[in-house]
Amino acid sequence: MVVIFIICGYEKSCLILTVILSAVTLKSFSQKYTPQVSAYIKINAPTIAITDVKLIDGTGKPAKEHQTVVFSNGKIVSVGDTKKIKVPTDAQVIEGTGKTLTPGLVMLHEHLYYTLPVDNFFNISEMPYSFPRLYLAGGATTVRTAGSIEPQTDLALKRMITEGKVIGPDMDVTAPYIEEQGYEIPALNVIKGPEDAAATVNFWADRGCTSFKMYVHATQADMVAVVREAHKRHLKVTGHIGAVTYHEAAQIGIDNLEHGFLASSDFDSLKTENEVDDSHERQSLIKLDVNSPKMKALMQFMIDKHTTLTSTLTVFEPSTGHEMVPGGGEDAITPLVKEMVQKRWQVAQNKDQAGAALFKKEQSWEKQFYDMGGLLVAGTDPTGAGRVVSGYSNHREIELLVEGGFTPEQAIKICTLNGAVYLEREKEIGTIAPGKRADLVLTDGDITTDIKNIRKTELVFKNGVGFDSQKIFESVKGRVGIN
Ligand SMILES: [Zn+2]
Repeated sequence: MVVIFIICGYEKSCLILTVILSAVTLKSFSQKYTPQVSAYIKINAPTIAITDVKLIDGTGKPAKEHQTVVFSNGKIVSVGDTKKIKVPTDAQVIEGTGKTLTPGLVMLHEHLYYTLPVDNFFNISEMPYSFPRLYLAGGATTVRTAGSIEPQTDLALKRMITEGKVIGPDMDVTAPYIEEQGYEIPALNVIKGPEDAAATVNFWADRGCTSFKMYVHATQADMVAVVREAHKRHLKVTGHIGAVTYHEAAQIGIDNLEHGFLASSDFDSLKTENEVDDSHERQSLIKLDVNSPKMKALMQFMIDKHTTLTSTLTVFEPSTGHEMVPGGGEDAITPLVKEMVQKRWQVAQNKDQAGAALFKKEQSWEKQFYDMGGLLVAGTDPTGAGRVVSGYSNHREIELLVEGGFTPEQAIKICTLNGAVYLEREKEIGTIAPGKRADLVLTDGDITTDIKNIRKTELVFKNGVGFDSQKIFESVKGRVGIN
């Protein structure tokens, strides 16, 4: 408001403009929260200034010391050197010395469900209470789910978060998986060919889903139908594919491919069209040289076709010598489930050398794709063997990107601006700049000197409202696996 007032030339018209804008502003930003949500809000004031902080703005540029960020009614007003930025007298001031400020994370491979293994099939269950709040606590202010098992629940949660009734990030909800019969996973949505695939897109798009995901056994014809219907509505399609190669998918016009290159069947010399053999695919990747010219050619083809690649390193993290729950979220899991996860993790100790070597190669391939000019985005995929827990996994994904050779600033860019670019929302979110939404994460410590400090999330501002990260993490201890 103050800024608008100064811009006006004549006092009288200025006053009128101010009154009108006040009404609009009140309407836009008078977000109401239920008491259950308010209990986790630590900072909520019309104008807030974070002073003398280390700033990573999301563009990939080097971090800057001694910066001040002022935001008002949910929007960033000014950003710059602490000595130069004027802090409004009515601002609530947060002293940022010794802390790091980044944009809110924009994570593109999330789920609101979690793995609960049973003996004879792969079981997954919705976590409508713990997961949305864990994502926000871990710094994610925007997520795209990457496949749903209870789309109606995901859509309802999206609405309830918007209405201030549930703690969580903004959500881009992906429809149920588009998959042909293959795996015995009861929660997967199985279609009957291309016509059914097209009908699925239109059914769920009409109900508010804004993204679609092809799965492992879907065919080229299915993909052609899905891409055609989704693109008609200016919606996007991603895939964790297999029967279709990355090259074929990029040619068809898919927007995004999941799991880095670890779901690529392009290098399986025994592959037949529209078929997939998981173990052949994996062996072909294990054999492939890290600097393979064939891989480089595939990367270039994807770049030429504007195919975005999603890194989901967290779900592939080796067991040997690594935490059971990447990012340290063990205590979030309910005891019975934790015991099951622990058993599997222990069994894998010293037996996953091939996976560990492939994991390192994947880190390198993602860096190569980024360096060649590809759009690399990130997500955490809380599935696998139950080791990946939302929120904690946000932190771990950033650590793993840095471990793979990215600078902390680049890793943050992959998890903020790049996600926003994919969602075509980069004018609104993804970096810290005047005019953008005040989606910000304040972390206690310097993440450029030790990336592990990323775990010390203190405040997560969504639309300028500051949530108490640690209090939210505390609130779900022992809940993951139940709800
Ligand atoms: Zn997934």
